[in-house]
Amino acid sequence: MEITGLKPVFGIEDIKSQTIYIAGPCSAESEEQTLETARQLADAGIKIFRAGVWKPRTKPGGFEGRGRMALDWLRKVREQTGMMVATEIANRKHLEDALEADIDAIWIGARTSANPFAVQEIADTLATLPQEKKDSLTVLIKNPVNPDLELWIGAIERIYASGVRRIGAIHRGFSSYGKHIYRNEPRWAIAIELNRRIPEMPIIFDPSHVGGRRDLVAPLAHQAIDMNYEGLIIESHCNPDCALSDSAQQITPAELASLLATLNKRSHSLPTKSLDELRRKIDRIDDELLELLSRRMEVSREIGRYKKEHRLPVVQTTRYKDLMERRVAESERLDMSADFVRALLAVIHEESVRQQVKL
Ligand code: PEP
Ligand code: MN
Repeated sequence: MEITGLKPVFGIEDIKSQTIYIAGPCSAESEEQTLETARQLADAGIKIFRAGVWKPRTKPGGFEGRGRMALDWLRKVREQTGMMVATEIANRKHLEDALEADIDAIWIGARTSANPFAVQEIADTLATLPQEKKDSLTVLIKNPVNPDLELWIGAIERIYASGVRRIGAIHRGFSSYGKHIYRNEPRWAIAIELNRRIPEMPIIFDPSHVGGRRDLVAPLAHQAIDMNYEGLIIESHCNPDCALSDSAQQITPAELASLLATLNKRSHSLPTKSLDELRRKIDRIDDELLELLSRRMEVSREIGRYKKEHRLPVVQTTRYKDLMERRVAESERLDMSADFVRALLAVIHEESVRQQVKL
Protein backbone atom coordinates (compact mmCIF):
# COMPACT_ATOMS: atom_id res chain seq x y z
CA MET A 1 0.00 0.00 0.00
CA GLU A 2 1.37 3.39 -0.91
CA ILE A 3 1.10 5.93 1.89
CA THR A 4 0.84 9.44 0.46
CA GLY A 5 -1.21 12.57 0.95
CA LEU A 6 -0.51 12.68 4.67
CA LYS A 7 -1.41 15.84 6.57
CA PRO A 8 0.75 17.42 9.27
CA VAL A 9 0.44 15.82 12.69
CA PHE A 10 -0.98 18.18 15.34
CA GLY A 11 -1.66 20.59 12.49
CA ILE A 12 1.98 21.71 12.53
CA GLU A 13 2.40 22.83 8.92
CA ASP A 14 6.03 23.78 9.07
CA ILE A 15 7.30 20.36 10.13
CA LYS A 16 10.67 20.56 8.38
CA SER A 17 11.81 23.59 10.30
CA GLN A 18 10.43 22.89 13.74
CA THR A 19 10.85 19.94 16.01
CA ILE A 20 7.73 18.47 17.60
CA TYR A 21 8.15 18.16 21.34
CA ILE A 22 5.66 16.06 23.28
CA ALA A 23 6.09 15.73 27.03
CA GLY A 24 4.21 14.60 30.08
CA PRO A 25 4.11 11.89 32.70
CA CYS A 26 4.07 8.21 31.89
CA SER A 27 0.69 8.06 33.66
CA ALA A 28 -1.93 10.52 34.79
CA GLU A 29 -1.92 9.48 38.44
CA SER A 30 -4.07 12.14 40.08
CA GLU A 31 -5.64 15.42 39.10
CA GLU A 32 -3.02 17.37 41.09
CA GLN A 33 -0.02 15.50 39.65
CA THR A 34 -1.40 15.82 36.09
CA LEU A 35 -2.19 19.53 36.34
CA GLU A 36 0.96 20.45 38.25
CA THR A 37 3.18 18.66 35.71
CA ALA A 38 1.25 20.24 32.86
CA ARG A 39 1.60 23.77 34.23
CA GLN A 40 5.36 23.35 34.63
CA LEU A 41 5.69 21.89 31.13
CA ALA A 42 3.65 24.70 29.60
CA ASP A 43 6.00 27.16 31.32
CA ALA A 44 8.91 25.26 29.73
CA GLY A 45 7.37 25.93 26.31
CA ILE A 46 5.84 22.51 25.66
CA LYS A 47 2.79 22.64 23.37
CA ILE A 48 1.75 18.98 23.39
CA PHE A 49 1.05 17.10 26.62
CA ARG A 50 1.13 13.31 26.93
CA ALA A 51 -0.18 11.14 29.75
CA GLY A 52 -1.15 7.48 29.91
CA VAL A 53 -4.68 6.85 31.11
CA TRP A 54 -4.72 3.08 30.57
CA LYS A 55 -1.34 1.46 31.27
CA PRO A 56 -0.35 -1.90 29.77
CA ARG A 57 1.62 -3.64 32.52
CA THR A 58 3.98 -6.56 32.12
CA LYS A 59 2.66 -8.25 35.25
CA PRO A 60 -0.68 -8.06 37.04
CA GLY A 61 -0.78 -5.95 40.15
CA GLY A 62 1.10 -2.96 38.74
CA PHE A 63 -0.47 0.48 38.45
CA GLU A 64 -2.88 0.15 35.52
CA GLY A 65 -3.80 3.81 35.16
CA ARG A 66 -6.83 5.71 36.44
CA GLY A 67 -8.88 4.98 33.33
CA ARG A 68 -11.70 7.12 32.06
CA MET A 69 -11.76 9.67 34.86
CA ALA A 70 -8.22 10.74 33.98
CA LEU A 71 -9.53 11.94 30.61
CA ASP A 72 -11.26 14.77 32.50
CA TRP A 73 -7.87 15.83 33.88
CA LEU A 74 -6.49 15.95 30.35
CA ARG A 75 -9.40 18.12 29.33
CA LYS A 76 -8.55 20.45 32.21
CA VAL A 77 -4.91 20.52 31.09
CA ARG A 78 -6.05 21.82 27.74
CA GLU A 79 -8.41 24.37 29.24
CA GLN A 80 -5.88 25.67 31.74
CA THR A 81 -2.67 25.62 29.67
CA GLY A 82 -3.77 25.67 26.03
CA MET A 83 -1.61 22.62 25.30
CA MET A 84 -2.85 19.88 22.98
CA VAL A 85 -3.33 16.56 24.78
CA ALA A 86 -2.47 13.00 23.77
CA THR A 87 -3.01 9.59 25.31
CA GLU A 88 -2.50 5.90 24.55
CA ILE A 89 -5.40 3.74 23.42
CA ALA A 90 -5.38 -0.02 22.99
CA ASN A 91 -8.92 -0.94 21.92
CA ARG A 92 -12.25 0.32 20.60
CA LYS A 93 -13.55 1.32 24.04
CA HIS A 94 -10.46 3.38 24.86
CA LEU A 95 -10.73 5.11 21.51
CA GLU A 96 -14.41 5.91 21.98
CA ASP A 97 -13.78 7.29 25.47
CA ALA A 98 -10.82 9.38 24.27
CA LEU A 99 -12.86 10.79 21.39
CA GLU A 100 -15.74 11.61 23.69
CA ALA A 101 -13.29 13.56 25.87
CA ASP A 102 -12.15 15.35 22.68
CA ILE A 103 -8.48 14.31 23.00
CA ASP A 104 -6.35 15.90 20.23
CA ALA A 105 -4.08 12.94 19.54
CA ILE A 106 -3.89 9.26 20.35
CA TRP A 107 -1.05 6.85 20.14
CA ILE A 108 -1.01 3.10 19.73
CA GLY A 109 1.41 1.55 22.21
CA ALA A 110 4.20 -0.88 21.39
CA ARG A 111 2.35 -3.93 22.72
CA THR A 112 -0.78 -3.02 20.78
CA SER A 113 0.90 -2.26 17.45
CA ALA A 114 2.36 -5.79 17.60
CA ASN A 115 -1.20 -7.14 17.50
CA PRO A 116 -2.96 -6.85 14.10
CA PHE A 117 -6.37 -7.77 15.61
CA ALA A 118 -6.19 -4.87 18.05
CA VAL A 119 -4.91 -2.41 15.43
CA GLN A 120 -7.64 -3.47 13.00
CA GLU A 121 -10.31 -2.98 15.66
CA ILE A 122 -9.00 0.54 16.27
CA ALA A 123 -8.80 1.24 12.52
CA ASP A 124 -12.36 -0.01 11.98
CA THR A 125 -13.58 2.36 14.69
CA LEU A 126 -11.63 5.27 13.20
CA ALA A 127 -13.19 4.51 9.81
CA THR A 128 -16.68 5.19 11.20
CA LEU A 129 -15.82 8.69 12.43
CA PRO A 130 -17.31 11.75 10.75
CA GLN A 131 -14.95 13.26 8.15
CA GLU A 132 -14.37 16.33 10.30
CA LYS A 133 -13.00 14.21 13.16
CA LYS A 134 -10.87 12.11 10.78
CA ASP A 135 -9.40 15.34 9.46
CA SER A 136 -8.46 16.76 12.83
CA LEU A 137 -7.32 13.73 14.84
CA THR A 138 -3.60 12.89 15.02
CA VAL A 139 -2.72 9.20 15.34
CA LEU A 140 0.80 8.09 16.27
CA ILE A 141 1.89 4.48 15.94
CA LYS A 142 4.67 3.23 18.18
CA ASN A 143 6.96 0.52 16.85
CA PRO A 144 5.91 -2.98 17.91
CA VAL A 145 7.90 -4.44 20.82
CA ASN A 146 9.60 -6.89 18.46
CA PRO A 147 11.98 -5.62 15.76
CA ASP A 148 9.65 -6.30 12.85
CA LEU A 149 9.48 -3.43 10.35
CA GLU A 150 6.74 -5.06 8.28
CA LEU A 151 4.52 -5.38 11.36
CA TRP A 152 5.09 -1.69 12.13
CA ILE A 153 4.28 -0.70 8.55
CA GLY A 154 1.27 -3.03 8.61
CA ALA A 155 -0.12 -1.18 11.64
CA ILE A 156 0.47 2.16 9.89
CA GLU A 157 -1.27 0.90 6.75
CA ARG A 158 -4.30 -0.28 8.73
CA ILE A 159 -4.68 3.17 10.33
CA TYR A 160 -4.11 4.89 6.97
CA ALA A 161 -6.81 2.76 5.36
CA SER A 162 -9.31 4.11 7.91
CA GLY A 163 -9.09 7.49 6.20
CA VAL A 164 -7.17 9.26 8.98
CA ARG A 165 -4.36 11.34 7.47
CA ARG A 166 -2.53 12.98 10.36
CA ILE A 167 -0.31 9.98 10.95
CA GLY A 168 3.12 9.76 12.54
CA ALA A 169 5.34 7.02 13.94
CA ILE A 170 7.04 6.82 17.33
CA HIS A 171 10.35 4.98 17.56
CA ARG A 172 10.55 3.65 21.15
CA GLY A 173 13.01 0.82 20.68
CA PHE A 174 12.70 -2.97 20.73
CA SER A 175 12.75 -5.35 23.64
CA SER A 176 15.25 -8.15 23.92
CA TYR A 177 16.11 -10.82 26.43
CA GLY A 178 18.72 -10.14 29.10
CA LYS A 179 20.28 -7.00 30.54
CA HIS A 180 21.49 -4.26 28.21
CA ILE A 181 22.43 -0.60 28.55
CA TYR A 182 19.16 0.40 26.95
CA ARG A 183 15.79 -0.70 28.22
CA ASN A 184 14.75 -1.11 24.59
CA GLU A 185 17.41 -1.43 21.89
CA PRO A 186 17.05 1.46 19.43
CA ARG A 187 17.98 -0.59 16.31
CA TRP A 188 18.28 2.72 14.41
CA ALA A 189 18.45 1.00 11.03
CA ILE A 190 14.80 -0.06 11.33
CA ALA A 191 13.59 3.53 11.72
CA ILE A 192 15.88 4.67 8.90
CA GLU A 193 14.34 2.04 6.65
CA LEU A 194 10.83 3.07 7.76
CA ASN A 195 11.68 6.62 6.71
CA ARG A 196 12.88 5.36 3.33
CA ARG A 197 9.69 3.35 2.83
CA ILE A 198 7.26 6.11 3.95
CA PRO A 199 9.21 9.34 3.43
CA GLU A 200 6.23 11.64 4.00
CA MET A 201 5.54 10.37 7.52
CA PRO A 202 7.21 12.11 10.49
CA ILE A 203 9.03 9.90 12.98
CA ILE A 204 9.16 10.96 16.61
CA PHE A 205 11.82 9.48 18.88
CA ASP A 206 11.07 8.32 22.43
CA PRO A 207 14.34 8.51 24.41
CA SER A 208 12.51 7.72 27.67
CA HIS A 209 11.38 4.22 26.70
CA VAL A 210 14.57 3.49 24.73
CA GLY A 211 16.88 4.55 27.55
CA GLY A 212 14.79 3.48 30.52
CA ARG A 213 17.04 5.68 32.68
CA ARG A 214 17.04 9.41 33.41
CA ASP A 215 20.72 9.89 32.51
CA LEU A 216 20.23 8.34 29.06
CA VAL A 217 17.38 10.63 28.01
CA ALA A 218 19.51 13.66 27.07
CA PRO A 219 22.23 11.86 25.04
CA LEU A 220 19.59 9.85 23.16
CA ALA A 221 17.54 12.99 22.49
CA HIS A 222 20.64 14.70 21.06
CA GLN A 223 21.43 11.75 18.87
CA ALA A 224 17.88 11.66 17.49
CA ILE A 225 17.92 15.37 16.65
CA ASP A 226 21.28 14.94 14.91
CA MET A 227 19.72 12.12 12.92
CA ASN A 228 16.92 14.41 11.74
CA TYR A 229 13.98 12.91 13.57
CA GLU A 230 10.94 15.16 13.33
CA GLY A 231 10.29 15.17 17.05
CA LEU A 232 10.74 13.81 20.55
CA ILE A 233 8.29 12.38 23.07
CA ILE A 234 9.74 12.59 26.56
CA GLU A 235 8.32 11.42 29.88
CA SER A 236 8.30 14.17 32.48
CA HIS A 237 6.80 14.12 35.97
CA CYS A 238 6.61 16.81 38.64
CA ASN A 239 8.06 14.31 41.13
CA PRO A 240 9.74 11.47 39.19
CA ASP A 241 10.93 9.52 42.23
CA CYS A 242 7.35 9.04 43.35
CA ALA A 243 5.95 8.16 39.90
CA LEU A 244 3.65 5.14 39.88
CA SER A 245 5.02 3.89 36.55
CA ASP A 246 8.38 4.27 34.77
CA SER A 247 9.84 6.21 37.68
CA ALA A 248 13.49 5.59 36.70
CA GLN A 249 13.19 7.22 33.28
CA GLN A 250 11.11 10.30 34.02
CA ILE A 251 12.70 13.73 34.34
CA THR A 252 11.34 16.89 35.94
CA PRO A 253 9.93 19.68 33.75
CA ALA A 254 12.91 21.83 34.82
CA GLU A 255 15.35 19.15 33.60
CA LEU A 256 13.40 18.92 30.38
CA ALA A 257 13.60 22.70 29.93
CA SER A 258 17.39 22.67 30.19
CA LEU A 259 17.59 19.73 27.78
CA LEU A 260 15.46 21.61 25.25
CA ALA A 261 17.71 24.64 25.58
CA THR A 262 20.72 22.58 24.49
CA LEU A 263 19.03 20.82 21.60
CA ASN A 264 19.89 22.78 18.52
CA LYS A 265 17.43 23.13 15.75
CA ARG A 266 18.47 20.66 13.07
CA SER A 267 19.07 23.37 10.48
CA HIS A 268 21.81 24.78 12.69
CA SER A 269 23.35 21.51 13.75
CA LEU A 270 25.17 20.72 10.51
CA PRO A 271 27.18 23.07 8.30
CA THR A 272 25.30 22.70 5.03
CA LYS A 273 28.17 23.48 2.66
CA SER A 274 30.49 20.78 3.88
CA LEU A 275 27.55 18.41 4.14
CA ASP A 276 26.87 18.93 0.43
CA GLU A 277 30.52 18.24 -0.34
CA LEU A 278 30.50 15.07 1.69
CA ARG A 279 27.34 13.92 -0.05
CA ARG A 280 28.88 14.46 -3.46
CA LYS A 281 31.84 12.41 -2.32
CA ILE A 282 29.55 9.58 -1.25
CA ASP A 283 27.71 9.77 -4.57
CA ARG A 284 30.95 9.41 -6.50
CA ILE A 285 32.02 6.45 -4.41
CA ASP A 286 28.62 4.80 -4.94
CA ASP A 287 28.95 5.30 -8.70
CA GLU A 288 32.39 3.68 -8.62
CA LEU A 289 31.09 0.83 -6.51
CA LEU A 290 28.37 0.03 -9.02
CA GLU A 291 30.80 0.25 -11.96
CA LEU A 292 33.13 -2.15 -10.17
CA LEU A 293 30.31 -4.55 -9.41
CA SER A 294 29.20 -4.47 -13.01
CA ARG A 295 32.73 -5.40 -14.10
CA ARG A 296 32.78 -8.16 -11.53
CA MET A 297 29.55 -9.57 -13.02
CA GLU A 298 31.08 -9.46 -16.49
CA VAL A 299 33.95 -11.66 -15.30
CA SER A 300 31.48 -13.84 -13.50
CA ARG A 301 29.51 -14.42 -16.72
CA GLU A 302 32.74 -15.35 -18.45
CA ILE A 303 33.38 -17.95 -15.74
CA GLY A 304 29.80 -19.12 -16.23
CA ARG A 305 30.38 -19.72 -19.91
CA TYR A 306 33.58 -21.65 -19.11
CA LYS A 307 31.73 -23.81 -16.55
CA LYS A 308 28.97 -24.51 -19.03
CA GLU A 309 31.39 -25.56 -21.74
CA HIS A 310 33.22 -27.90 -19.35
CA ARG A 311 30.04 -29.12 -17.68
CA LEU A 312 31.04 -27.83 -14.25
CA PRO A 313 28.43 -26.97 -11.58
CA VAL A 314 27.63 -23.26 -11.14
CA VAL A 315 28.06 -23.21 -7.37
CA GLN A 316 31.22 -24.67 -5.95
CA THR A 317 30.83 -24.58 -2.19
CA THR A 318 34.51 -24.82 -1.22
CA ARG A 319 35.39 -21.91 -3.47
CA TYR A 320 32.53 -19.83 -2.00
CA LYS A 321 33.55 -20.69 1.57
CA ASP A 322 37.15 -19.75 0.89
CA LEU A 323 36.24 -16.44 -0.79
CA MET A 324 33.96 -15.57 2.12
CA GLU A 325 36.37 -16.49 4.93
CA ARG A 326 39.30 -14.57 3.49
CA ARG A 327 37.28 -11.35 3.21
CA VAL A 328 35.55 -11.67 6.57
CA ALA A 329 38.99 -12.03 8.17
CA GLU A 330 39.88 -8.66 6.67
CA SER A 331 36.77 -6.91 7.97
CA GLU A 332 38.37 -5.51 11.12
CA ARG A 333 41.29 -3.96 9.24
CA LEU A 334 38.76 -2.38 6.88
CA ASP A 335 36.77 -0.92 9.78
CA MET A 336 33.59 -2.83 9.01
CA SER A 337 31.70 -5.46 10.95
CA ALA A 338 32.20 -9.10 10.00
CA ASP A 339 28.40 -9.43 9.71
CA PHE A 340 28.25 -6.63 7.18
CA VAL A 341 31.07 -8.08 5.05
CA ARG A 342 29.45 -11.51 5.16
CA ALA A 343 26.03 -10.13 4.17
CA LEU A 344 27.51 -8.01 1.38
CA LEU A 345 29.47 -10.90 -0.13
CA ALA A 346 26.42 -13.11 0.13
CA VAL A 347 24.27 -10.78 -2.02
CA ILE A 348 27.07 -10.26 -4.54
CA HIS A 349 27.56 -13.99 -4.79
CA GLU A 350 23.82 -14.54 -5.15
CA GLU A 351 23.64 -12.16 -8.11
CA SER A 352 26.69 -13.85 -9.66
CA VAL A 353 25.03 -17.23 -9.40
CA ARG A 354 21.82 -15.84 -10.85
CA GLN A 355 23.68 -14.46 -13.86
CA GLN A 356 25.55 -17.74 -14.42
CA VAL A 357 22.39 -19.84 -14.14
CA LYS A 358 20.70 -17.55 -16.69
CA LEU A 359 23.37 -18.52 -19.23
C1 PEP B 1 4.17 4.86 27.35
O1 PEP B 1 4.34 5.67 26.42
O2 PEP B 1 4.08 5.17 28.53
C2 PEP B 1 4.19 3.42 27.01
C3 PEP B 1 3.56 2.52 27.73
O3 PEP B 1 4.96 3.19 25.94
P1 PEP B 1 5.32 1.86 25.11
O4 PEP B 1 4.05 1.45 24.43
O5 PEP B 1 6.34 2.39 24.19
O6 PEP B 1 5.87 0.86 26.08
MN1 MN C 1 6.00 4.97 30.21
